[in-house]
Amino acid sequence: MSRSAHPAGPRHADVLPEGHYSAPPADLNALDPKVWAQTVGRDGDGVLNVGGIPVTRLAEEFGTPAYVLDEADFRARARSWRDAFGADADVFYAGKAFLSRAVVRWLDEEGLNLDVCSGTELATALSAGMPPERIAFHGNNKSEAEIRRAVEAGVGRIVLDSFQEIVRVAHIAESLGKRQPVQIRITVGVEAHTHEFIATAHEDQKFGIPLAGGQAAEAVRRALRLDGLELIGIHSHIGSQIFDMSGFEVAAHRVVGLLREIRDEHGVELPEIDLGGGLGIAYTSDDDPREPHEIAKALTEIVTRECEAARLRTPRISVEPGRAIVGPTAFTLYEVGTVKPLEGLRTYVSVDGGMSDNIRTALYDAEYTVALVSRTSDAAPMLVRVVGKHCESGDIVVKDAFLPADLAPGDLIAVPATGAYCRSMASNYNHALRPPVVAVADGAARVIVRRETEEDLLRLDVG
Ligand SMILES: *Cc1c(COP(=O)(O)O)cnc(C)c1O
Repeated sequence: MSRSAHPAGPRHADVLPEGHYSAPPADLNALDPKVWAQTVGRDGDGVLNVGGIPVTRLAEEFGTPAYVLDEADFRARARSWRDAFGADADVFYAGKAFLSRAVVRWLDEEGLNLDVCSGTELATALSAGMPPERIAFHGNNKSEAEIRRAVEAGVGRIVLDSFQEIVRVAHIAESLGKRQPVQIRITVGVEAHTHEFIATAHEDQKFGIPLAGGQAAEAVRRALRLDGLELIGIHSHIGSQIFDMSGFEVAAHRVVGLLREIRDEHGVELPEIDLGGGLGIAYTSDDDPREPHEIAKALTEIVTRECEAARLRTPRISVEPGRAIVGPTAFTLYEVGTVKPLEGLRTYVSVDGGMSDNIRTALYDAEYTVALVSRTSDAAPMLVRVVGKHCESGDIVVKDAFLPADLAPGDLIAVPATGAYCRSMASNYNHALRPPVVAVADGAARVIVRRETEEDLLRLDVG
């Protein structure tokens, strides 16, 4: 259904309202706490404040577009995940959602671990002082140089993704005189989506080793034979933006089934099981994500029950939330450039960014909301589509939303829940300069990733 997946190319306009958005909200000035970062609210002048700072001041000082990240909210979410799982489990923040050195330090301070999936994500983590033993290294095609770097650094685990990699990592570890802790990522045939899951999905994807056909069992057999590897567990990641826990239930059942096979065949009980990430957040008021403590309770119960049934010691559980920690903590601040009413259709609102700072709408048909944040308004609601400034009609930030009819160039609008997979997937399309990430806390704002400059861009172009 994705716009970008249409074989005839991008569809220019679903010109008629599609009916999947709700009626205009009762109060256009209201900010639903479900989709906004914790410290967001309006001040007496109607200006949105975050971390005690008005967005008008942020726009003046740092320019637009900008990602504005609520540090207190980030830390609180990280903590609530850690506390929910307690001392007998591990929470790995999935760095690909958004990674910067400040974020790595916050995670370190809050007692979380970190997932990386490239040598450069690893470099970022190490340069910010994350203890290597708290880093997990992922990826379906890690280069030898990346593996060597990870093993040399002493990462806590490498998640093996293929038969070649089992040998590759073992060889590199042995050549360095090390025994590298590893997990094997398997695909259990469960594919989870927001509200449903498919328990018999084809394992037709690039990640992991299929459980089907005894392939995962064979991978375990080989890993156990290699001196360079210390097999500590099995890894499974079933999807993204998941609200329903039943997909995890089926996945855990199948992973534990493999643990039992391993025990029966090799007499070894692997001590760890990683259930991946993919926990959903509220992008719009229609989404109802679960709290970390409910998720922790559900996952722990599922694994414990399955292990009791299989007469296995319950392994140490780890999870890898990315979006669920950073997603809700940031919004993107834009300035309105043009307002173009199309009679009988909708009004196109163009902002000073677009698909270069948020590709998710074009890529996944993702839904977002938007609010006027530099003032309040009593004007009637108008149906809008918020679009960027790129040379591509699929350059949509918010497909359907309502903004006040008196919206005008120069107004600031903000799109909430852009903390995950926006800056980390940002591009330089049309030679856009990627926006900064501004962290706010207790009345202070600081840039944690600066805005790209023309010089940055031209420096790469060697002429
Ligand atoms: C992407 C990914 C995650 C994080 O997913 P979220 O949806 O951000 O929680 C965790 N683990 C693995 C292996 C992943 O690929």
